[in-house]
Amino acid sequence: MSALSIVMITQNDFGILSNIIEELVRESEYVADYLIIYDDCSVDGTQRLLEDYSRKYPQKIAFIPGERKIGKERATIMISNVIETDYYCIVQPDDWRNNLFRELGNGCKALDMDDGLTIWQSNENSNLMIFRRNSIAPEKEKPVIPFMVLCVGQACNLKCKNCGNFAPFSEKEYLRYDVNYIVSDLANILKHFKIGELNIQGGEPLIYTDLDKLLSFLGNNSDIGSIMIASNGLHVPSETVLDLIARFNITIRISNYAIFGHETDSLRKILKEKNIEYYEYHFAGGQDNWSYMGGKEVTPENDDLIVDRRFRECRFQMCTTLEDGKIAHCSRAINASRVQGFIPKPKDVVYVRGNVNLKEDLLSYLNEMKYMEACRYCYGTNSGKTCIPAEQV
Ligand code: SF4
Repeated sequence: MSALSIVMITQNDFGILSNIIEELVRESEYVADYLIIYDDCSVDGTQRLLEDYSRKYPQKIAFIPGERKIGKERATIMISNVIETDYYCIVQPDDWRNNLFRELGNGCKALDMDDGLTIWQSNENSNLMIFRRNSIAPEKEKPVIPFMVLCVGQACNLKCKNCGNFAPFSEKEYLRYDVNYIVSDLANILKHFKIGELNIQGGEPLIYTDLDKLLSFLGNNSDIGSIMIASNGLHVPSETVLDLIARFNITIRISNYAIFGHETDSLRKILKEKNIEYYEYHFAGGQDNWSYMGGKEVTPENDDLIVDRRFRECRFQMCTTLEDGKIAHCSRAINASRVQGFIPKPKDVVYVRGNVNLKEDLLSYLNEMKYMEACRYCYGTNSGKTCIPAEQV
């Protein structure tokens, strides 16, 4: 029988999850290969609980913590793009019942027997469906990249010792990418894809001098669902930029760097005045810590199984990033190769400029989700190592 992933989207389900997960792990043994759990930004301890379960059952549970509430539909699209098994089904925490796995087993057999069947629906419960991978999007529609990071350059107004992207250690030529190249790269991508959410990063993107030109292009593009700018909160942009941010309903994510105290208050104040949405970012390390991913000098990990696991458990592996005409799985990989001095493998990135096979190349890159050479030189986010955010060089 072909492999099945069970996808569950959780939100504030702390009180009911333990029993359900234990049952799912036990009962799914002969039916489902993986449980993929996406948490849509719970605030009640669900994420901690799920992290514990993903450590307890590392071969069975892949846990993806949402950083920002995106809703079940977008979460589902996002997850469906990274599934590697032939089939997947989506269950809610309260869908659990005794005959669930018998029904799922029947569904997989039905799909195995009929190649033309893309979705199987249970006779006993019409909400229970199994999808053949990549069967949701109609052929004519552009595929959606659920989340994409755009790096405008590594220039920053801080010099963080443990910057995950090595911004303070970047060569001059990578501090600021030409806006014309950025716009042309994005236009190439948007010819073939929609982008669910575009997250503009740096360095510090609010100091990027052509931000007005970039936002005018992005804000007028209907193939981009929403735009967010990830800022350290220490720079107040020009009136022109603020007006564009307000006009295009762009959200600002302010990193919660406790060591700067009230220094970010001026930005918050002006965002409030202009009715611009913003929120505080509390980092992948949890408890307001950064995950420590290693410095410039690290001993590369040669064991492929360890690197593969590191990548799969890394919270950043879904941060599909466009930087300097290339796309990688995370925002660290491209700059890391320059700073740490290793040579990426050809399949680590997708080239955007002049790539006549961009659509096919990017689709297979996103479907395969293979670790990159950068992951040998990086501890990822699940090593348990953390560090103080924004400690300066
Ligand atoms: S482990 Fe790999 S995917 Fe994760 S941040 Fe490091 S280089 Fe990127």
